[in-house]
Amino acid sequence: MRATRISAGLGAVPARVDVLVVGLGVTGAGVALDAVSRGLSVLAVDAHDLAFGTSRWSSKLVHGGLRYLANGQVRVAHESAVERGVLMEVTAPHLTHALPMLLPLGESTARHQAALLRAGIAAGDLLRVAARTSAETLPRPRRVTATESRHLAPVLGQGVRGGILSWDGQLEDDARLVTTIARTAAGLGAEIRTRARVLEVDGHGAVLRDELTGAVVGVAVRTVVNAAGVWAGSLVDHIELRPSRGTHLVLHADALPGLRVALTLPVPGQRSRFVIVLPQPDGQCYVGLTDEPVDGDPPDVPEPSPAEIDFLLDTTSAALSRPLDRADVVGAFAGLRPLLYAGGSTSDLSRRHAVLTSRTGVVTVVGGKLTTYRRMAQDAVDAAVRAGGLDAAPCRTARLPLAGATSRAELARLAGAGPSRRLVRRYGADAGLVLATAREVSGLADDELLAPLAGGVPVTTAELVFGATHEGAHDVADLLDRRTRVGLVAADRAAAEPAARRALALAQATVR
Ligand SMILES: Cc1cc2nc3c(=O)[nH]c(=O)nc-3n(C[C@H](O)[C@H](O)[C@H](O)COP(=O)(O)OP(=O)(O)OC[C@H]3O[C@@H](n4cnc5c(N)ncnc54)[C@H](O)[C@@H]3O)c2cc1C
Repeated sequence: MRATRISAGLGAVPARVDVLVVGLGVTGAGVALDAVSRGLSVLAVDAHDLAFGTSRWSSKLVHGGLRYLANGQVRVAHESAVERGVLMEVTAPHLTHALPMLLPLGESTARHQAALLRAGIAAGDLLRVAARTSAETLPRPRRVTATESRHLAPVLGQGVRGGILSWDGQLEDDARLVTTIARTAAGLGAEIRTRARVLEVDGHGAVLRDELTGAVVGVAVRTVVNAAGVWAGSLVDHIELRPSRGTHLVLHADALPGLRVALTLPVPGQRSRFVIVLPQPDGQCYVGLTDEPVDGDPPDVPEPSPAEIDFLLDTTSAALSRPLDRADVVGAFAGLRPLLYAGGSTSDLSRRHAVLTSRTGVVTVVGGKLTTYRRMAQDAVDAAVRAGGLDAAPCRTARLPLAGATSRAELARLAGAGPSRRLVRRYGADAGLVLATAREVSGLADDELLAPLAGGVPVTTAELVFGATHEGAHDVADLLDRRTRVGLVAADRAAAEPAARRALALAQATVR
């Protein structure tokens, strides 16, 4: 069963399209959706897989933009808050939820510092109000007592004398967002190809290589959008990026017993730098994050350095009653921020996106963040329409729900009535389609399809089968490292591998 236009290799790729999109991270997937929903024909390709690059290594937050406000970047902050509202209230309520975040104030926090932190969080709430996001979606921040702080986070050390509780958006998973955007675009007619590398490109055509067969083909295009993230500069002259690496640790939730909220922990001796502890939906916790300039060609998969791991463990431990150590770390991952170079250090570089049209007519979109992907795509497609003289409808993605999106009330009803809360959490209203597909392809009973793959690995066979039939997964790595995130913990990955092989075989048998 091949149920979508997402597939690996070039296959029967159209000889001529309106828009070629290079890269299928969140930006490229967003551009593909924006362009196809304006009535343009679209071919979107990735050299590896959906969400292969930076988009799967984020903190998985849908930011309100507070930290940009702290840096005086009011426009970036407002844009972020608006896009957070669009995702949480219109396009992807099923993939986002409100995350309570506690900023503990300790005996060592000076009064003026506490006042500044409170003012910052209040400003963050003003951003929410300015973006017209309801307090039902993201509750107002409030001060909490020492007792309540310890109730929310029993792991905190003795010195806590209160805290500030605020809310921001959290994604179910970043790679799941990318996959869902790509599936939505494919549903509207975009051709999505993984394992398809763009070798050369100008405003009228591109040379592509099928990474499965080695075949090289030319495609005529009316316009090209380069959304290749930290690799964008290798395709177009005069684009200089200064990537910076951000690392997270993965802990089992039982390393931080009883934690009910995310923690924002000031880095000692630094005014506006924090380490964040982020509980995840699947019983893990991430601790991030660093900001290290990276020189030279960006690697395909960046590696955390030992110094970054120590920094994150030490900073977090300073706030806890029991210090963390390396034995608590079950995984770690790093991503590269695609920052456009404009002089200065990486932390000074603007986090707003840039859209640049080359002399040959290629539109490059870089920078920004996951939260603002929709706006980045809108700006990039506007520029591509101008560059290619295309006849296209206005952007409509701010009101275009992603596949499976429905209201929070309906999601609650489905989760209560249906056989699998987990599927509703990850596919929204498409949970029934996921299960029905897996049933049809495998002939297995629902309880087998919905059982956790192994102890401590909550991923199900139903998800793996659907990844192979509807989400273009081509191999075990696609299923375990991107359609699901089992791969973040090596032991879990090994336990899940046989199930992933079975799911791929089942899907392939149905195609024949
Ligand atoms: C550590 C970290 C934490 C972050 N946390 C957050 C967060 O919590 N919230 C948030 O909103 N943002 C966050 N961000 C920012 C966000 O993750 C990135 O801005 C975003 O994911 C970039 O997406 P992209 O699509 O532009 O690039 P990528 O995801 O890197 O996609 C580029 C794609 O292009 C493909 N490609 C490259 N060259 C070619 C070629 N020649 N042919 C075909 N394909 C090609 C690659 O394989 C890749 O898949 C974070 C970033 C980092 C690094």
